[in-house]
Amino acid sequence: MAKAQKGKYAIGQFNISTDEQIKAIVETAKDLKSPIIIATSESERKFIGAKQVVALVETWRKETGLPIILNADHCKSFESAKEAIDVGYDMVQFDGSSLSFEENVKTTKQVLEYAKSKNPDIIVEAELGYLRGGSEIHKEKIEIKEEDLTKPEEAKKFVAETGIDALAVVIGNLHGIQAESKKLFLGRLKEIKKAVPNTLLVLHGGSDTQEKDIKKAIKLGIVKININTELRVAYSDALEKEIKEHPEEVKPYKILAPIIEETKKVVAKKIELFGSGGKV
Ligand SMILES: [Zn+2]
Repeated sequence: MAKAQKGKYAIGQFNISTDEQIKAIVETAKDLKSPIIIATSESERKFIGAKQVVALVETWRKETGLPIILNADHCKSFESAKEAIDVGYDMVQFDGSSLSFEENVKTTKQVLEYAKSKNPDIIVEAELGYLRGGSEIHKEKIEIKEEDLTKPEEAKKFVAETGIDALAVVIGNLHGIQAESKKLFLGRLKEIKKAVPNTLLVLHGGSDTQEKDIKKAIKLGIVKININTELRVAYSDALEKEIKEHPEEVKPYKILAPIIEETKKVVAKKIELFGSGGKV
């Protein structure tokens, strides 16, 4: 990630809850020679299994030689972060964005201290600002308010008090996909970068954001971009189409094959947009 920061490109974080998604993501990254981050939210982790996903990623990493980071996305409590750290995740995000500033600092510090005591190489991400929406399709356009955005002064104070490696910022991004592509407040990002020049800046809710804004955000210092909803839509659309077109098919490896193909298309498009291809 430090390399990405220097080289002005971003690494895609792709959220998963099944092993065929991991296969699709890793095979695409291998073809395009890109570093990648695979992530699970708390619900995704529960579905695939914490130990199981660590073992799967480890196996792919050994087989491909790719730098693959496994991140525990949006841990909402110390206990949740601890579970991920204990089973061997490479990265953990504590999301204290719904807490007060002081509570967020306190628990982020607790997670960071525990994480580094277990694994000095672990990457810890925190979150500041109000990030709206879940990773799904929103029928209405979600209005982003000025007060939702990460405040540069608070970011500076937060980084100084916690010592975190990476910070998820709110700059017009939101989780999920809505009727209109998302626009970013790039001026705010510039101010945040100035306030915390050495922190790895992360953009959540990267799905369906205007491509020109993504490119500018990377130039301004975003090094990790999270993609979830576009992968979920590719999965469910491909599955629905396959079952409709071949209702007699019962072999899972045939039913799931189009999902892998459609997931690969999304991942390849993002790797190209983020500029991380050919970096391995
Ligand atoms: Zn997120």
